[in-house]
Amino acid sequence: MDTGQLDEERMMEFAVRQSLQEVCASGHQRADTSGTASDEHLQILAAIDRGDVSALRALCAHASAFEVADPAGRFPFHRAAVQPDARLLDAVLLASHELSMEEVTGEGETALTLAAHAGCARNVEVLVRHGASPHNTNRMNESPLLLAVRAGSYDTVLALILGGAFVEQVCRAKWTATHEAARAGCADIMMLLLRHGGKVEARDVHGVTPLGIAAEFGHADVLEILIEHGGDVNAQATNGDTVLYDAAGSGNLDCVELLLQRGASPNVASLAFQLPIHRAAYQGHYLVLKTLIPLTTKRAIRLSGMSPVHSAADGGHASCLELLIQKGFDVNSPLGAHISDNYDDMRKTALFFTVSNGDVTCTQQLLEAGAGPDLDPLRCLLVAVRAGHYELVRLLLAYGANVNCFFTVVSDTMFPTALQYCLKDQSMLRMLLSNGYHGDSCFQCYHDQHYTGHVWGQNFSIQDTDNCSSKVMFCDFICVFWLRHMAGPVVRTIMDYVRHVPICSKLTKILERQKEWPEICHILCNPRSLQHLCRLVIREKMTLQRLNSPQVMNTVPFPPALKNYLTYKELDMYDSVTEA
Ligand SMILES: [Zn+2]
Repeated sequence: MDTGQLDEERMMEFAVRQSLQEVCASGHQRADTSGTASDEHLQILAAIDRGDVSALRALCAHASAFEVADPAGRFPFHRAAVQPDARLLDAVLLASHELSMEEVTGEGETALTLAAHAGCARNVEVLVRHGASPHNTNRMNESPLLLAVRAGSYDTVLALILGGAFVEQVCRAKWTATHEAARAGCADIMMLLLRHGGKVEARDVHGVTPLGIAAEFGHADVLEILIEHGGDVNAQATNGDTVLYDAAGSGNLDCVELLLQRGASPNVASLAFQLPIHRAAYQGHYLVLKTLIPLTTKRAIRLSGMSPVHSAADGGHASCLELLIQKGFDVNSPLGAHISDNYDDMRKTALFFTVSNGDVTCTQQLLEAGAGPDLDPLRCLLVAVRAGHYELVRLLLAYGANVNCFFTVVSDTMFPTALQYCLKDQSMLRMLLSNGYHGDSCFQCYHDQHYTGHVWGQNFSIQDTDNCSSKVMFCDFICVFWLRHMAGPVVRTIMDYVRHVPICSKLTKILERQKEWPEICHILCNPRSLQHLCRLVIREKMTLQRLNSPQVMNTVPFPPALKNYLTYKELDMYDSVTEA
């Protein structure tokens, strides 16, 4: 850093400190003025807070004391605007000759927005009578009318309309008082607004009509009023969401049924290809889903590129998933390419959603209903292994997920991909190996001038030897400097699940420096036990499909000790942890 730059930074710091001091000083000054300058001002504030009208009238002669703002920028009339007794405000306004009524507080509120927000109808009348404009908004660009609707005060809304408020005035997001009444669910206020020029087809900045808002917030009575006044039940927002889609999201069955009776179509998709049935399933609204299932056409679902099963799975709603399975929806229907492409992982199945959400209940439900665990480009098993989710891994393996699957997009390896995701996790590594992960593939390599390939077990075959030369071998993979410290424990663990394996010079060089080396050497230099070799042979004969299926293993006529030995129970770290 050069000296010029340092000087510049010091100057900047000085300037900031200076301006902070100035701000503090001016703050004190204002507080002081209000604190000491006028006892009358303090008496006025106290009288307003007490609701003492006669005391206020007695102070009327001190006009200047009514025209002083407190440190928050509030004049006495702002304070009086939210008091229940309107006579207070009237008295204050009579004394505040020099003020325009449109002064704003430090937070940008006018007296009328304050009174409207507080639902003080009489105060609103007083302010309007004294000349306050019903159109001036607060800093959020909210009109007094909008705030009165939000407060749910019919009388205040009426007072503003009679005082000349423009019913269709829009705030920042093109939101009208009619939208606000739809959100608040105020039927009587909605009627009042519609009688005074409120429009049912008004659209906010997202193109949403008051109908969409009433549906979204589940106010069936307001929705009905809007429909009676000519609201379009098939209106779509800018993003294509229909009113029925909004209603499905709220889960309000009355709104959904009302819209369906009045001709809303359940088969119009949003621009994101979502139908009302998807929304109901995703949000877990069982009754709405049940209503929409028979009305939604197979064609609309097919064109959307997504099954409601995906939505229920993604939302994690077991009851909705159950209903869809009962009604015959295919648990294996894939996402359309236009939906799948939006995901980096290129997911296809509902099972992928539940696995990537770590949802054991819904995953089990889908697997029991026949979901295939190996239908996605990135296998569900790899997602679960990478997340370190033992329960999901075991569940997927029990339902036949291929432990020796490959995902070659990131790195094209000669050994099945799952190992890469659990190098640091011995429990997971053992779970994969005892469920048939092909440990031998880790010792297959082209170093030392000869190919040290081994007999491949069942369920696993190496496609093409020429092709293999371009693939990453385990020894090369584990020898990179940020992984090599894990080579010892990983190789030692794999050795419990293989016959005699050759270890190439490259891997040896790394292993020699690790504490597992003496033990590895001992295993390499001695014949494996007959018991261990028999286990490997029996496992091969039984096939993984049977070994990994708890149901099949329960019916196999072996003594429990032998079953445990065959399935490596004594080395299963996760089991011993969960059973302890
Ligand atoms: Zn090698």
